[in-house]
Amino acid sequence: MNKRVLVKFSGEALAGEEGYGIDTQILDYIADEIKNLVDNGIEVGIVIGGGNIIRGVTAAADGVIKRTSADYMGMLATVINGVAMQEALEYKGLNARLQTAIKMEQIAEPFIVRKAIRHFEKNRVVIFSAGTGNPYFTTDTAATLRATEINASMLIKATKVDGIYDKDPMKYDDAVKLDTISYDRALEDHIKVMDDTAIALAKDNKLPIVVANMSEKGNLLKIINGDTSKCSIVK
Ligand code: UDP
Repeated sequence: MNKRVLVKFSGEALAGEEGYGIDTQILDYIADEIKNLVDNGIEVGIVIGGGNIIRGVTAAADGVIKRTSADYMGMLATVINGVAMQEALEYKGLNARLQTAIKMEQIAEPFIVRKAIRHFEKNRVVIFSAGTGNPYFTTDTAATLRATEINASMLIKATKVDGIYDKDPMKYDDAVKLDTISYDRALEDHIKVMDDTAIALAKDNKLPIVVANMSEKGNLLKIINGDTSKCSIVK
């Protein structure tokens, strides 16, 4: 199997107890999980969200800030998270490169897919920041797009849950985890784990989306090696 994967972390995943900002201990934990993959010969691309700093829809809610500007602010937030992630990976002794969909040469390389692939060949982790570079999209869609562009074998969405359930497991005791679910069902059920644009793009490109629990140490590697007990796969 193609040993290249793309892992998506939400911005919120980086935030500590307060729910905002960047908790370096969480970054350190994530970097360890990524190192575990790299040490096992896996090529890793990363997309991080920006929700721990700013979300376009929320920032534009009362109309003072226009949606397009708020979305650019959100994209900048993902670059801030990307710089932090690059540091955390290097702190663990990995080689990492931050790329951005919006040019800012002093901070990150511009996104160039051929360059990203060259980095993978040299054992470097590549972080794709600034989303798709366009307002009105999400970093889930950016992750799907980048995963497709780099020909990743799967997109792993790292979450705090073990996977997708038939109903909300927080509310219902009899909620059942679904091991696999089709793209069409994910779209029909409006499964909240990914927005419809991301699912539709994954469907068009036959990219499996794995919703996984990142709090479970070693889970990312287990999933890549075929143990799907702590995840659900949309395919
Ligand atoms: N964003 C955008 N275009 C993109 C990706 C992100 O405009 O291609 C903006 C959007 O405002 C979004 C914010 O960046 O709210 C942060 O990303 P997201 O909400 O996806 O982060 P997450 O929920 O994963 O933390």
